[in-house]
Amino acid sequence: MPALLTLSARAQALQPSLTLAITAQARELRRQGRDICSLSAGEPDFDTPAFIREAATRALEEGHTRYGPVAGEPELREAIAAKLGQENGVATRADQVLVTNGGKQALYNLFQVLLDPGDEVLLPAPYWLSYPEMAHLAGAVVRRLPTDASGGFRFSPEQLEAAITPASRLLVLNSPSNPTGMVLSRTELEAIATVLRRHPDLSVVCDEIYEMLLSPGHVHHSLAAVAPDLAERIFIVNGFAKGWAMTGWRIGWLAGARHVVAAASALQSQSTSNVCSFAQYGALAAVSGPRDCVREMAAEFSRRRARLTDGLMAVPGLELLAPEGAFYAFPDVSAWGLDSMTLCHRLLEEVGLAVVPGVAFGDDRCIRLSCAASPATIDDGLARLRRFGQSL
Ligand code: GLU
Repeated sequence: MPALLTLSARAQALQPSLTLAITAQARELRRQGRDICSLSAGEPDFDTPAFIREAATRALEEGHTRYGPVAGEPELREAIAAKLGQENGVATRADQVLVTNGGKQALYNLFQVLLDPGDEVLLPAPYWLSYPEMAHLAGAVVRRLPTDASGGFRFSPEQLEAAITPASRLLVLNSPSNPTGMVLSRTELEAIATVLRRHPDLSVVCDEIYEMLLSPGHVHHSLAAVAPDLAERIFIVNGFAKGWAMTGWRIGWLAGARHVVAAASALQSQSTSNVCSFAQYGALAAVSGPRDCVREMAAEFSRRRARLTDGLMAVPGLELLAPEGAFYAFPDVSAWGLDSMTLCHRLLEEVGLAVVPGVAFGDDRCIRLSCAASPATIDDGLARLRRFGQSL
């Protein structure tokens, strides 16, 4: 047999996405006939609303099947810019918007065009597991800002100030947060902005993909609206997957300074070109259409979040800070005496429950459960977790 080719150092260092891997594993086990309950992926179980599907179908029938502008259909860029102005209070022009293959490509492109080898990315931990990998793929170094449940999964302005070095280039903010559900208040964003004003070389990416998914009493604020004087170095990443139940469509966006967005578009022109042309017309219908469907789904997720939260709080040995948004719970399971990878492996093997180990998010004491599942599936998952806890 010929020797295998050596992979690049980048590829060798790369960790594949564990959230996607566990979801695929659960699907495969179920296909093999195993009784599996999956609370792993953050994926709405609702169908994409009909008016969005119809708009994409119409576009397909009307012949929107050819290459389009790399940065996105002009009407869609306009509509996203209008949404940012009206809903988020962030004045944005269409040429400041890049339509991307999901929020993930927006993040990837941004990291590639902003970061040089040796630059530092400041990353509050726990974090969504793709941020560090994307930073490493750009040659950057990750500097964590550790947070925990006792501090509400928040970092203090002093902690941020102390972490900044001359190499710090990009701060990642993800509110509502995956996996902790933490939502930054306006006051907290103002305090972060005060620190940023002292460090003109530090940019911020605000991943707002969960903006629609909030527990009662919580409000989403965009940093760029709270601190418009910093808008030139604040980048917003968002997409249609979570709010509009469009995970498989792969449509997101990057918004920010025009020259950076143009560089990200140039990168996209050499990697993937435009996002699927007719799918963009579905996205256009979504972003320009009424928000009733989004509100209804978000309300249902709130009920499910509360159901999962209450259920977890009743499981002996688990400690949970109630999530304020997104659709995850991130309980501390360290009292069970297992590292999170072993625990998740055993949960899958012994009670058929698929959840994601906290170590992938930078906290080995925790596991992540998703409430983007039917109430019956949530109850089933909780029952399996309780059964496992009793068996220890
Ligand atoms: N962001 C979702 C999650 O964390 C989807 C999977 C992924 O892209 O990582 O479950």
